Amino acid sequence: MVYDGHVHTPFCPHGTADPFEEYIEKAISLGLKGMTFTEHAPLPYGFTDPTPEQDSGMKSEELLPYFETLKQLQSKYKHQITINIGLEVDYIEEFERETRELLDEWGDYLDDAILSVHFLKNNEKYFCLDFSPEMFEELAEEAGSISKVYEAYYKTVEKAILSDLGVNKPKRIGHLTLIRKFQKKFPVEKTYEETVVHLLDLMKRKHYELDYNGAGFSKPLCKEPYPPAWVINEAVKRNIPLIYGSDAHSVKGMAQGFQQLYLANATTSPSLLKG
Ligand SMILES: [Zn+2]
Ligand SMILES: [Zn+2]
Repeated sequence: MVYDGHVHTPFCPHGTADPFEEYIEKAISLGLKGMTFTEHAPLPYGFTDPTPEQDSGMKSEELLPYFETLKQLQSKYKHQITINIGLEVDYIEEFERETRELLDEWGDYLDDAILSVHFLKNNEKYFCLDFSPEMFEELAEEAGSISKVYEAYYKTVEKAILSDLGVNKPKRIGHLTLIRKFQKKFPVEKTYEETVVHLLDLMKRKHYELDYNGAGFSKPLCKEPYPPAWVINEAVKRNIPLIYGSDAHSVKGMAQGFQQLYLANATTSPSLLKG
């Protein structure tokens, strides 16, 4: 592993307070050449976070201190490791304009960013699809079935890829198969192969990178990376750049799932080296 493109920070309201320096020192000790800090961007203005603590994203007033802290760290460590400044931005259906405005306003600070789908709209109500098995179950009940939730998720990811979020739209799609986070509890028969391949084709056409995310493996109801090996095979066939992401919310979480990635083909892909 030479790069980790998905790392959370002490600015994460649902993460740990582990200091930046410890993440960076750990990255250096792992031999990484670089990393991107991708804190959850503030949720769009007017959107109500459906999670109980409403802590899915940073508060807007923390953005400037976040970027300023990272600027300092970037220069402090520049001889040891490349630190890229990023965000994990949510794609939320019907909040495209607000999201574009946020990116327009802050895009100059960004070296890198991820676009992820964590929220699904169902019957005028939004759900956080990866918050808990309970919320997932509620969503499945309201949607009619588990497969309906999968369909809605992949449809939303398609919209995310196609959405116009302005010139600073993130270049990397986060954990493409996050919908499988609770798959051991809520299994589906369908593989959604055609759907996922279609998304990869779109990503290729629009020059997106793929967050090859190790966090799923450490989730007891998931036990596989996002996305699983067959998707990686298809991505490699299409030459879609794969960027490893630990999605660590603590220093301990760094490098998680890396050993379990399917690297048979991917190691030959220089994209895992981030450029
Ligand atoms: Zn998080
Ligand atoms: Zn995420």
